[in-house]
Amino acid sequence: MASKRVLGLLGGGQLGAMLCEAANPLNVPIAILDAENAPAKKIHYNKNHGTGSFKDAAKIRELAAHCEVMTVEVEHVDTEILEEINTKGVQVTNADGTTTTKKIAVHPSWKTIRLIQNKYDQKEYFAKQGVPIAEQVALDGGDAMLPSMKEISSKFGFPWMLKSRKDSYDGRGNLKISSEADFDQAIAEFGKLSCYAEKWVPFQIEFSVMVIRTEDDAGNTKRLIPYPVVETVHEDNICSKVYMPPRNISPEICKRAQDVACNVVGKLWGRGVFAVEMFLTKNGNVLVNEIAPRPHNSGHLTIESVPYMSQFKAQLTAILDKPLPETLKPHVQSSIMINVLGGATPDAHDSLIEKAESMYHPDAAVYVHMYGKESKPSRKIGHITVTGFMPVAELEKFAEPLIQSAQDVRQ
Ligand code: ATP
Ligand code: MG
Ligand code: MG
Repeated sequence: MASKRVLGLLGGGQLGAMLCEAANPLNVPIAILDAENAPAKKIHYNKNHGTGSFKDAAKIRELAAHCEVMTVEVEHVDTEILEEINTKGVQVTNADGTTTTKKIAVHPSWKTIRLIQNKYDQKEYFAKQGVPIAEQVALDGGDAMLPSMKEISSKFGFPWMLKSRKDSYDGRGNLKISSEADFDQAIAEFGKLSCYAEKWVPFQIEFSVMVIRTEDDAGNTKRLIPYPVVETVHEDNICSKVYMPPRNISPEICKRAQDVACNVVGKLWGRGVFAVEMFLTKNGNVLVNEIAPRPHNSGHLTIESVPYMSQFKAQLTAILDKPLPETLKPHVQSSIMINVLGGATPDAHDSLIEKAESMYHPDAAVYVHMYGKESKPSRKIGHITVTGFMPVAELEKFAEPLIQSAQDVRQ
């Protein structure tokens, strides 16, 4: 990677910091727009870092003027301004003091980010393209919310999932409706939001596939490269653990999940990595839950398991249109990622980290990643990846004290 094209990054939190950790050895310059003390800025220096909100249009234009390509840390950004810098361009001052207008590439495309921001629209689009999803219906707001919820309950039966269309993450924006007794809470918490209802999916497991997508300058898909399937475990709507390979799932189903994931990502726009969250239903169907157009929690274990092309390196390599490998075969037999979530007290997780440091196995390794964030209950403040040259069930036995300790922190 000899090219010195500058990548502009909106947002410099923990994902941005991990992207910068991958960028430094590759000599990729990144200019970040975020607050002065944003974690990513501590990892990577650039004289054109911008200070301020990554939602500030004027600051985004200013940053873009110093960049060749722009990307985002998370999808909750203003896509109008991304469309503007991409289609109309930004004013750039030349060395002789004159100004020109320069169009800036945006990856993944602002079209993808805009579609994905609205989970309902995202899945309507997928359904129209023939992608299998859980049945969903728009929900009326205001005074119409109660009758609308009653109608949905008779259509879907209980339970069903109430979801905010926008700004959800880690399950903030979801409410399981188990009976009419939940309607009051639904109205109090979701009454002012634009919502939809989703049929409850009685799944066997949840899994996820990260897919690398590249395209030519006309926007046609060039490559779709899937990572191995991982099983994701969510507790209270937050991902707590990730297993590679999934436990007790046949290679045929894993292959099907990779095919579904590549098919979905092929229907989006722009370069980069995309996480495809899926359900495996009790009767063996694969349903797409949602897409994240960026490196994702379920791909963190690629840092150690696919070390030659972690999801962060892949994000940079794809966006900058550099050579990618044919396949993404892991360098270990199995891997487990455990999220470190903040506990009731600020140091509740200390014993978990101490335990991780004390673990030893001749055929396994334990990697602690703390994000340097203030601990708050249920906040993702780090993760631990365990890799091994043994079947995943055996690795799980070795990792059990960590799994248990992470569980204890959350309670
Ligand atoms: P993320 O942090 O992944 O962006 P999110 O806030 O957008 O999450 P979802 O992915 O919609 O939320 O849901 C979070 C979790 O809730 C899922 O991973 C799954 O465990 C559960 N869930 C969501 N929808 C359903 C459903 N229809 N049926 C059963 N469980 C569901
Ligand atoms: Mg989501
Ligand atoms: Mg999700």
